Amino acid sequence: MDNRLLLISVDGVSYQQWSELLKFLPLASKMLSEASGAILDTRPFVEAQPIWAEILTGTRWYENGCSSYAHPDLSLNKLEVFNETLLSTPVTLVQNLPTTVCINVPLLLPLQRTWIADGSLPILSTASPPELSNLFDNRYKPRPYASLAAALRDGYQSASQLIQVEMERLNAAVRVLVERPWNEAVLRITAFDQLQHIFGPHALLDPNLLVHRNVQELLGALNRFFAEIAKTGCQIACISAFSHSMCRSRFNVNALLRRAAYLSVEKKPAFAANRTHAVSSMSGLALSPVSLGTSDGHLSVSTRAASPVGGNVFLNRARAFTDGTVGDTEVEALMRELKALFEDRLYYYFGGRGSIFTRPQSSSPVTKHALPEFILHVPDVEFFDGSDIILDNQDKPLVCHQDKGFLVIGGMTLGEESITPIEANHVLRKIGFGN
Ligand SMILES: [Zn+2]
Repeated sequence: MDNRLLLISVDGVSYQQWSELLKFLPLASKMLSEASGAILDTRPFVEAQPIWAEILTGTRWYENGCSSYAHPDLSLNKLEVFNETLLSTPVTLVQNLPTTVCINVPLLLPLQRTWIADGSLPILSTASPPELSNLFDNRYKPRPYASLAAALRDGYQSASQLIQVEMERLNAAVRVLVERPWNEAVLRITAFDQLQHIFGPHALLDPNLLVHRNVQELLGALNRFFAEIAKTGCQIACISAFSHSMCRSRFNVNALLRRAAYLSVEKKPAFAANRTHAVSSMSGLALSPVSLGTSDGHLSVSTRAASPVGGNVFLNRARAFTDGTVGDTEVEALMRELKALFEDRLYYYFGGRGSIFTRPQSSSPVTKHALPEFILHVPDVEFFDGSDIILDNQDKPLVCHQDKGFLVIGGMTLGEESITPIEANHVLRKIGFGN
């Protein structure tokens, strides 16, 4: 065995689902033999970007600055999609060298790396260096479907399309890993995630469902991938940053803030456009078509707190935002009031299931941009974004993300039942990633 390392991400797959899927992936089971994995506990996050920010940097969100797929840039009305350059601590999981291969990894930009993306970053290229495109059988078209609205209309057709894209990506990955020199590689597979958004978390393993045919096709492609990878003799690890559950309800923090007179709205299309742009450049997240800009509000200047992205609550601080209204002397009292409001309402709606996260008092982060003051989290509940201010709580997607993924490293026992993304970074670096 050489000392090359391959991390395969199957984001969206639970540890339980993975052990079931491994029964159909004999070569993967062999490459992961003698392994015992751990649950990845990603609280307070369920989205790929902040979890991957912690895995990539080995630092917490209040140190690396990433708490969602996007952050408010100079105004709570303006979102910017998060990427590697906005992180406040360096990426340590992988190097920035041509021998580092990154395929479809959140946040990471090409820089010097050998890189293939899914098109979720607002940059034009999907492969770097450009001659990589010659490795694809067809011209690489990363985004599997034009919109989730179409996916909901015809789930089976979308499933076969997204599996087609995943298979092209796997073929490209094999050619990169077989034909080019490399030391470390991260490949992220998103089809298992997307399939669950269309059909629900139970569909992956239910042989009685029509979608099972699609799942089998995907597993066949993965088997072919592992057959090729086994020949390279690399050590493999598998990670999933989150899993899925049936969505019980959605919760609109902005509507709550509005009723309690901390937030007010002007109807303007700009916020809708910004947010729709941010959202449409993500992949793997189910979006109700009504949340894409049809009923967006625009925060007025009297807003004192808002949740521009799901579960993240920001104060409209004058110090942080050009149109901010909350002065430093008002912060403490406002924080107290909001904490009481959230505790009361989360308990009213969800009993003891809700959690409110704040950054530690002792931390004095020097992040590149403002951090949320509160992160609200309730299992099986999706939080609305800022664009959904005037929507009601009834409109809910089929599934939610859960704050539990997993990590398995071939030939190794992790020794803990549950680890954090920070610990995942440390253990992966210990076996050689990033150096
Ligand atoms: Zn998902």
